[in-house]
Amino acid sequence: MRIILHVDMDCFFAQVEERANPAIKGIPVVVGANPKEGKGRGVVATCNYEARKYGLKSAMPISIAWTKCPRAVYLPPRFELYSEASCEVMDIFKGFADRFEQVSIDEAYLDVSSAGSYEKARLLAQEIKDRVKAAGLTCSVGIGPNKLVAKIAAGEKKPDGLTIVKNEEVNEFLNPKKVGVIYGIGEDLAKAPEEVVDELGNYGRELQRLAKGVDERDIIEQWETKSIGRQSTFDKDTKNRKQIIDLLDGFIPELYRDLDNERVMFRTVTFKVRYEDFETHTKSRTLPEFTSSIKIIRKLTTEWVDFALEDVRKIRLVGVSLHNLKRKSLNSSKQPQKTWNQ
Ligand SMILES: [Mg+2]
Repeated sequence: MRIILHVDMDCFFAQVEERANPAIKGIPVVVGANPKEGKGRGVVATCNYEARKYGLKSAMPISIAWTKCPRAVYLPPRFELYSEASCEVMDIFKGFADRFEQVSIDEAYLDVSSAGSYEKARLLAQEIKDRVKAAGLTCSVGIGPNKLVAKIAAGEKKPDGLTIVKNEEVNEFLNPKKVGVIYGIGEDLAKAPEEVVDELGNYGRELQRLAKGVDERDIIEQWETKSIGRQSTFDKDTKNRKQIIDLLDGFIPELYRDLDNERVMFRTVTFKVRYEDFETHTKSRTLPEFTSSIKIIRKLTTEWVDFALEDVRKIRLVGVSLHNLKRKSLNSSKQPQKTWNQ
């Protein structure tokens, strides 16, 4: 019997901030962009449950968050702090899993099939929750026969929840409407006749299976970084070439540091531009070979900025990301010297 646990930290960034500074516990806390008294741009990264009572949520424009709850404590993200806390809790999770897959900074799947029963899996989950609590944090756990069910179960009771959905309870638990809400799959698809699903091909088949709660996707043990990127919103929409290039240049040292930390090279560079009316375009270039050259990023982004500036609209946001990553072999020749000048 397959038993999968999904562990999801509750409002992770906000919780880590609360742990670092207990004085802000119990009051609304928002981690994200600078609200600038309602004039700020950018979004809420995470907020705690006190802030959610005011209708605040992740990805909400920070200006709206400010209107709804000006008295909240607004904090700039401290990713290093969160990443340390993430390692701390992931280490706890790993100790309980036959196989382990980290899906994001604050979520992981654990294959605990060897526990043998849902009752034993519940005890494991409780132990994980206790350990996380002893570290000063809380998480919510979902237990199910596959990743999909486990993940939805983890979201059922938050914060500090524990939800079990056994094999025989899946249909009742996952009425198709609920799946539709979460995965954007309509109720219709779960009930759709075969011919319709055939029209959609393999993808349709996969969606229909997911809509019925059937999910055979395996736990993927090696969690690989899929892309490295940075983007930023200007304080004021702009057509100033220098300002745009300067912002992009500012990303380059950070991208380089990420490549270095992950020990990867890239082959594809993607540029993203969002105009004042929110229309967003991306442009990508795949290089003939893997590289960790900074020069090529600067060269391509400069070309693309010039192209983007041919449009009459002002620019709101730009970003650059690196995809198609390959791990450097450990005995590769000495790494290139880190220098930003050409
Ligand atoms: Mg979470």
